[in-house]
Amino acid sequence: MKRILITGAAGFLGSHLCDRFIKEDYHVIAMDNLITGDLRNLEHLFKLSNFEFYHHDVTTFVHVAGELDYILHFASPASPIDYLKIPIQTLKVGALGTHNLLGLAKDKKARILIASTSEIYGDPLVHPQTEDYYGNVNTIGPRGVYDEAKRFMESITMAYHRFHGVETRIVRIFNTYGPRMRLNDGRVIPAFIGQALRGEDLTVFGDGSQTRSFCYVDDEIEGIYRLLLSDHAHPVNIGNPHEITIRDFAEEIVRLTGTDQKVVYKPLPKDDPMQRQPDISKAKELLGWEPKVSREEGMKKTYEYFKSLPQEELYKKEH
Ligand code: NAD
Ligand code: UDP
Repeated sequence: MKRILITGAAGFLGSHLCDRFIKEDYHVIAMDNLITGDLRNLEHLFKLSNFEFYHHDVTTFVHVAGELDYILHFASPASPIDYLKIPIQTLKVGALGTHNLLGLAKDKKARILIASTSEIYGDPLVHPQTEDYYGNVNTIGPRGVYDEAKRFMESITMAYHRFHGVETRIVRIFNTYGPRMRLNDGRVIPAFIGQALRGEDLTVFGDGSQTRSFCYVDDEIEGIYRLLLSDHAHPVNIGNPHEITIRDFAEEIVRLTGTDQKVVYKPLPKDDPMQRQPDISKAKELLGWEPKVSREEGMKKTYEYFKSLPQEELYKKEH
């Protein structure tokens, strides 16, 4: 049985990755410090003999007993609210955490895939974003703690690849959504659905003309799985190119939830990217991958998930 370490395992993407690798018959070693994650995302796996969980902060030395074939490094706050609240931890997990995990990969001769992001393109001047675009990031702005941590993460990963010959993979993930997102993490999809369920106005930031391209989690996980098993060490965009303005998206949510919520406009957060759409030619060519789930279908599943949560979750205050 292949052995895989997944960091950030109790989070949204990490827990779906655990499910996928369990399904593929791997021995999964999950690690998380629960700073933004939730053990409930993993509780259905605890009874399995090929699943282990370690409560550990990966910015401190990471030890795993026995052999390891693969490492997926997904630990990091991922929503703008989270990384603005815990900026130093965000920088540390991208920098020190990645360094520790690359060291572990070198030691164990394991292949490592790191979770990078469309945020490395910043507020992009090239549209759609191709992997060879270097990006437009404000290093000292509030989002810089996340963007620069991820850019450093890519650099140190390529350095371990070139200098130490570690087998590395880099996925640039574009806005992904689905069940197990935290209702109150501030990202636009849980924010809008939460507001609709509580009967509140939907808060569009700025004039809502900024765009995003939303990828359903099952598609994202399939792309990551294929990239891990490919032989491609350079970054690959994995996302859904179907782009929409946030204003139109708010209208879609009103139609989806069948509520008659009003849309209200709030100030645009600093350095909020004005447009974002992945160019996925590379993923198509190298991995034979493209998204299959339409926004309509994915959003229905996501809405059903949030609706099924206990009522008190809707009003839970964030830590
Ligand atoms: P999430 O907040 O749900 O999950 C992140 C997990 O990492 C949490 O369980 C958290 O407790 C854990 N974590 C954070 N710091 C840690 C540390 N020092 N040690 C151990 N565990 C730690 O976020 P997510 O949406 O699942 O994102 C997962 C990864 O994917 C992140 O690296 C994120 O940057 C990347 N990503 C996600 C998206 C997206 O749209 N969801 C987009 C781009 C990149
Ligand atoms: N956004 C919004 N209202 C909200 C939350 C977010 O209009 O209540 C906007 C936000 O300004 C951004 C877009 O939605 O332009 C996506 O935000 P999110 O935090 O989901 O992701 P990111 O900015 O990291 O792409």
